[in-house]
Amino acid sequence: MKVAVVCEHNPSMDTEEGKKAYPEGMNECLADVFREAGCEVTLLRADENGVHGLDETVLESAEVLVWWGHWYHHKVSDELAGKIADRVHRGMGMICLHSAHKSKPFLRLTGTSGSLKWREDAEFERLWCVDMAHPVARGLGEFIDIPEEEMYGEPFDIPTPDELVYIGWFRGGEVLRGGCVFRRGRGKMFYFNPGHETYPTYKLPAVRKLLAQACEYVAPKAPVLEKLDCPHIPEFSIK
Ligand code: ZN
Repeated sequence: MKVAVVCEHNPSMDTEEGKKAYPEGMNECLADVFREAGCEVTLLRADENGVHGLDETVLESAEVLVWWGHWYHHKVSDELAGKIADRVHRGMGMICLHSAHKSKPFLRLTGTSGSLKWREDAEFERLWCVDMAHPVARGLGEFIDIPEEEMYGEPFDIPTPDELVYIGWFRGGEVLRGGCVFRRGRGKMFYFNPGHETYPTYKLPAVRKLLAQACEYVAPKAPVLEKLDCPHIPEFSIK
């Protein structure tokens, strides 16, 4: 399976905490999740100058696009966000991680503001599985514990998810719909809240297994359409 991973590099990753969490770089740690699952991974960088390398060829060959972004959402062009949303509608799978709840592709696909409550305080999070039969949660038990994470809480401004798999709980009493699937056109998008860049969450075996299973789940089961056609409106496509 062809997976493109867009991972932002921001100054928080160059701090002592950031380097301690991911000495090899969070981008490499994330890419390895999918490499270990047998995927052919194209790792792409996003930074203050935008997204590098996500051209037509890479995007149009990706079966699943994984997106981690935070500081530089505004540097992603509306045109690129539109192309990504269009490809999801045509069947590509997408995984939006952590602060990607405010990324342009996520907002484009959900149609809401993506706003939520947050507190960055290295807090314990317990992700409760609320759909034990869901393929994303296969073999992962009733809950996944994350020793240190950024609190993300409700109200989370998203449409009612098509499939809710996990609810995150924090010691402050907050909860979040933290693992959910949105079906868009022929495609599926999975959102997963853990993964602040200064906590080594993506090294946890349960999280890696979950992400690999999410990738398998959102991957297209039929070829991604070349374009969306409407018989009544020639050259119709969602931009
Ligand atoms: Zn964060």
